[in-house]
Amino acid sequence: MPDPVLRHRLLTFILVGAGPTGVEMAGALAELAHSTLSRDFRHINPRTARILLVEAGSRVLTGFPEKLSAFARRSLERMGVEVLLDSPIEVIDEHGVIAKGERIEASNVIWCAGVEATPVARWLGVPTARGGRVRVAPDLSVPGHPEIFVIGDAAFVTQPDGEPLPGVAPVAKQQGYYVAGLIASRVRDREKPPPFRYKDEGTLATIGRHAAIADFGRVKLTGWVAWVLWGIVHIFFLIGFRNRMAVFLNWVWAWVTYGRGARLITGEMTTLAQGADSTESKRPGPTSPCGTNLELPPKP
Ligand SMILES: Cc1cc2nc3c(=O)[nH]c(=O)nc-3n(C[C@H](O)[C@H](O)[C@H](O)COP(=O)(O)OP(=O)(O)OC[C@H]3O[C@@H](n4cnc5c(N)ncnc54)[C@H](O)[C@@H]3O)c2cc1C
Repeated sequence: MPDPVLRHRLLTFILVGAGPTGVEMAGALAELAHSTLSRDFRHINPRTARILLVEAGSRVLTGFPEKLSAFARRSLERMGVEVLLDSPIEVIDEHGVIAKGERIEASNVIWCAGVEATPVARWLGVPTARGGRVRVAPDLSVPGHPEIFVIGDAAFVTQPDGEPLPGVAPVAKQQGYYVAGLIASRVRDREKPPPFRYKDEGTLATIGRHAAIADFGRVKLTGWVAWVLWGIVHIFFLIGFRNRMAVFLNWVWAWVTYGRGARLITGEMTTLAQGADSTESKRPGPTSPCGTNLELPPKP
């Protein structure tokens, strides 16, 4: 690709949002660019890829204590990720983004700043809270409808400190157990259980090959130890010994060989026939995330 400006734009990746998804993805992209794919191309050098993690808040992983956030940021920067804080993204278009008034040219913009709930509230005809979630009663039923429960990512539940519960798997699982117990107590005409309380058993976030952070209240871990623990926990929660072994062996193999399923063969063979670079012509070109301007509302 002869145009250096275009090449630079195609090799620029912007991740919007420095929560666990953005941090993990930034680390994975850095690893792909600097190790896995580093020698796969003749006309471009993947090591020159620019990876930016753009966050509206003042630190990465705001759900974690400051010390762990700072560790995550340092780890990312060591891996070659540029971390932009206090930089709310205002516009995303085919040229890149505008963050805090400044244009950043990029062909790849990846949204890691949260998900919208399935339109359960619309189906039920009830008002929505943040992210389109249904604000539920303390027993996770829909106010005015004791026969309807909403749990998991679709439910908006506040903790005693007023903060909403995060949309993570442990919350969904505990809510599932709670509602199952509540229904069982109703069927058996037993006393109703007390309101739902989430028991936070700790939070983990992975950053890259050897780095993760873990917050278990008084015990906080960083680096290798947290990373190994992250792996053990994720394998432990898989169903069945066979699945656990398969994932464990795959991970060990990927870790030792730096191999990842990162190569795609697409049907674009015409350029190959025309004598273009055979390696690059088989790969899909980065695409614009959206054709039209996307005006983003200011972060609440
Ligand atoms: C990129 C990403 C990374 C994440 N990483 C983590 C992590 O590391 N740790 C963690 O704890 N959490 C993580 N989460 C969050 C976690 O996945 C969710 O909190 C959890 O899955 C919520 O469970 P749920 O049952 O509410 O919803 P889901 O797991 O989303 O299950 C809902 C199911 O309902 C189905 N469905 C939707 N609409 C209909 C319909 N109309 N009819 C029938 N079926 C329907 C969907 O297909 C889906 O299978 C991550 C989420 C994302 C997006």
